[in-house]
Amino acid sequence: MKQKKVRPSKTRIEERISEISTFNLTPGQGTTRPTFSEPYIAASKYLFDIMEGLGLETGVTCHGNMIATWEGENNQPGILLGSHIDSVPHGGNYDGVTGVIAAIEAVQCLKKEGFKPLKPVHIIVFAEEEGTTFGHMLVGSKASLGQITQKKLASLKNKEGKSYLECAEKFQKIFGKPLFDYIRPEMTRAMLELHVEQSVVLEEKNFQVGIVTEIAGAQEYIISIKGLANHAGATPMKFRLDAVAGLGEAIVGIEKTITKHKSPLGVATVGSVSCFPGAANIIAGEASFSLDIRDVKKENLEILERNMLSKIGKIMDKRNLSLEINRTSSSIPIVLDEGIRSLLEEVAEDNNIPVLKMPSGAVHDSAEIARFIPTGMIFVPSKNGRSHCSEEYTNAEDITQGCTILKETIRKLSLDQIFK
Ligand SMILES: [Zn+2]
Repeated sequence: MKQKKVRPSKTRIEERISEISTFNLTPGQGTTRPTFSEPYIAASKYLFDIMEGLGLETGVTCHGNMIATWEGENNQPGILLGSHIDSVPHGGNYDGVTGVIAAIEAVQCLKKEGFKPLKPVHIIVFAEEEGTTFGHMLVGSKASLGQITQKKLASLKNKEGKSYLECAEKFQKIFGKPLFDYIRPEMTRAMLELHVEQSVVLEEKNFQVGIVTEIAGAQEYIISIKGLANHAGATPMKFRLDAVAGLGEAIVGIEKTITKHKSPLGVATVGSVSCFPGAANIIAGEASFSLDIRDVKKENLEILERNMLSKIGKIMDKRNLSLEINRTSSSIPIVLDEGIRSLLEEVAEDNNIPVLKMPSGAVHDSAEIARFIPTGMIFVPSKNGRSHCSEEYTNAEDITQGCTILKETIRKLSLDQIFK
């Protein structure tokens, strides 16, 4: 007898996202869930309890990634479902969490149907996707592929001065070890991630679901300017080496460079600035700012980066200020696997869900994994395009539609009906 398909539960998805939102350092002021913090551990326990309840084998890798495995009849190659639960400071409830909850929901529905995968299915919650706890983006996914050494993990520190490695080890002690630490491409068939769009495209075009074609790369910098601290009253304007004035002109220069850039998907952001000594009556001797540059095409990103840094350099030369440029993280743009993309589209069509093919301006763990493993991403709309803020919202019905595609794609991939 053919088993009836179980539709993902909108209510359960909604309840679980709302439950995770309570694990938060800043209630009432958006969601703040730094990697390996108390609320992060509490949210992990909540998720592990659900996944163990579903009969999955769980644990934490030596890089602090959570893994829950649904064993298949063959022990490889596996299918990865992943996203993250760390947040930016005062962020929203949907970034990352939606993908984790959707992955669990998809597995739960398939299990309820009595489905038995031939290949194992692994839900992975990657640690430190945002990079706001340890200052480096996509740490968990990069480390799981052996792209970050344990030595480097020991050098990344949080605000309390604790190293990433130390925190990951503590986190592993609480939840135990999983079946594997490293994602090995030869043992992995595919990776699927559902994520909120974090932009306005799906909403504007009236789609509930998007299939991602390519993911933007991001280059992040800390740029420090050195001038000369001096008296705000006694120093004539023409004798000043004002680091803050240089910083101001640099930011305007960055905006100008972007408007001249030929790619419409190129963006640059200065999200954090500081100066020293930082008093009203002192000309600042030092100033620094963060710079985040993104584009979906590698060549465009390189041009943008080159033009921007050269513009900043010229401004500082003109003002006789010295400049130090430090790249803090880097990810290249990536085109997602065509086979997985067409499978996702086919599944959407079978289930009568219209989908929009679109690039992703935001960087995700999937961008790292996609460098080694065939990867697909499903987007669901963000209300008013808002993300990384407390207003972030995605309708549970939209998530349910995206989750249906996720679930049916897992079924196809895990039975190996289409691919070898
Ligand atoms: Zn995210």
